[in-house]
Amino acid sequence: MSTSDQLQRFIFERSDIRGEILTLEKSYQDVLANGSYPEAIQQLIGQFLAAAGLLSATLKFEGVITLQARGTGPLSLIMSDCTRHHNLRAIAKFDPKLSYENNTPLTELIGKGTLTLTIDPSQGERYQGVVPLESASLAECLEDYFARSEQLMTRIWLSAEIQSDSPKAAGLLLQALPHQLESTPEENLRLWEHTTQLADTITAEEQLSLNHEEQLFRLFHQDELRLFEPSPVQFFCSCSEERFSKTLVSMGQKEVLDILKENGLILIKCEFCHQQYRFDQKKISKLFGENPPTLH
Ligand SMILES: [Zn+2]
Repeated sequence: MSTSDQLQRFIFERSDIRGEILTLEKSYQDVLANGSYPEAIQQLIGQFLAAAGLLSATLKFEGVITLQARGTGPLSLIMSDCTRHHNLRAIAKFDPKLSYENNTPLTELIGKGTLTLTIDPSQGERYQGVVPLESASLAECLEDYFARSEQLMTRIWLSAEIQSDSPKAAGLLLQALPHQLESTPEENLRLWEHTTQLADTITAEEQLSLNHEEQLFRLFHQDELRLFEPSPVQFFCSCSEERFSKTLVSMGQKEVLDILKENGLILIKCEFCHQQYRFDQKKISKLFGENPPTLH
């Protein structure tokens, strides 16, 4: 049974460890269809989508989790975000004049830069954590982030492939929960090490070709595992006229009116989904609280 475009939680019955497993197919392809990216960057986008999808499972409230890497290299920006309901999207900005070799490490593409993780609840305060990009892969950079921010011990395995007819991305996450079972901290640590060593044996090919149950059986068949019902994951862009209105207001009336004067109209295209938004003079006046101009 295919588990494409699904996110599934699992727990180990005999240790304080939980996991998330996900496979992206149509959702990933829908994102790729919105940009013309070199293959090496398409692969990275797959990993960024898979990571945002896995991390969205940790959101306990309505909101969005965003992963963003920025740097001085040929790939100046790559970002993905995912809502609590697993609506995914991503974009990348790169120098189109250069050629990109497949499987180039993230750090080489981004150059000197940082990885930012933002949690934006629909209500309440935004949380942001930043780490320098020092490890070669996104999974390792995220693990650095979790280690530095003294959060729960977390390991992540990400894969993406774009060569086949149907590009796919996949991810696996393991997280040590706060102590719940009646075992000693030493015993918990031993179980964590044992479990992550088993997970380290997963190959990209297995992540991309086996369904979730098969992958988990392959890794943990000696452990008692409970796999929860899958949640669907899809490409969906949350852009709206209201959101872009706020962006215009934040730019300030003078700058917006200058652009309007020059072009007669403000057209904004969403970078994630290419939807176009039109702001004419009437709409702009309304944004800044003026009465629409009357024609004499
Ligand atoms: Zn959009």
